[in-house]
Amino acid sequence: MGLPLFNARLANDMYQPLLDKIKAKVTHWTNHCLRYAGKATLINSVIFGLNNFWGASVLLRKGVVKKITKLCKDFVWGIEEGSRRHVFMGWKSLSKPRQAGGIGIKEVLSWNGAQMVHWLWKLVNRPESIWAKWVHHYILKGTDFCLASTSVSHSWYWNNVVKVKDFLVTREGSQSLATKWILDCTKHGKFKAGMMYELIRDSYDLVHWAPLVFDKAVVPKHSFMGMMALQNSLPTIDNLTLRGLPLVNRCLLCCSQGEDLEHLFFSCPFSSLVWHKISSWLQVPYSADLAQVVNWFQAFLKGKDHISCGKRAGFLATLYYIWNERNARVFKGTMSSSEAICIKIKFVTRCRMY
Ligand SMILES: [Zn+2]
Repeated sequence: MGLPLFNARLANDMYQPLLDKIKAKVTHWTNHCLRYAGKATLINSVIFGLNNFWGASVLLRKGVVKKITKLCKDFVWGIEEGSRRHVFMGWKSLSKPRQAGGIGIKEVLSWNGAQMVHWLWKLVNRPESIWAKWVHHYILKGTDFCLASTSVSHSWYWNNVVKVKDFLVTREGSQSLATKWILDCTKHGKFKAGMMYELIRDSYDLVHWAPLVFDKAVVPKHSFMGMMALQNSLPTIDNLTLRGLPLVNRCLLCCSQGEDLEHLFFSCPFSSLVWHKISSWLQVPYSADLAQVVNWFQAFLKGKDHISCGKRAGFLATLYYIWNERNARVFKGTMSSSEAICIKIKFVTRCRMY
């Protein structure tokens, strides 16, 4: 199959069905109570699945990429059309891979570029295909594809393929390395856009706590909350006042000190009480210092046995239920004792262990 000879105007019109489909999916999902982990999975599987036809055929325009990204962003944060909401983590940070402290949502632009490399792969790896023969005969005319350049005499589609090639050559520094990159994305004789995506997406610094937070033993909503907490991205009162909200900074659990991340989760007398009970139950040392606790779990809890998994699940469940109790006091006006919270944590942890 060759590159269809659409022109730019026709391609512009064909973006609209893509955007309409994505919008319809997102609106449908918004009516369901989905957690963040589920939302990320849906975006990666369905949105990028819908995007596959267009993404593999044309370089999406910046405006389209921006619209798709906005639809995904509003869906994840639960922002309704036309409304605004304070979010405490930028989209770029949130969509980073899990190892880098995000929830792993694909970048629309990089995914589009990775899919377009399919055409280059076909030229290099399938020279016997009708399309490759046609391109070699009528466009390349015996020259290497790496030397091809955009031209008004060529179709808009072919020029898009050349732009992708130029991007790869610039990124890799040489034509031969770019070709090697393209060939490296072959698995079982087929081109794998996912492998190319990993090569061309933005690179990020890894975070040491990611294996702890995103452990399979941990409840996904606890992972998300833990990820936000460990990056100080929760709407704690100190974070809200930093953004200009006129609030009195007082911890809602002890009502005696200001609320910040360290205090709320560790040094607050109420949280300390919960941690003391849970850490003796989990048989892990207790520390009021967040970094120390994370390092301890990181260094000693890499085991795959159910006890180690339980300890990781218990750690994240404790963070989650302390935050949950704080929110229940603010938004529902209800209050639970530290014993009641410990019972919930132990129950969830036992379920995850077995
Ligand atoms: Zn407190």
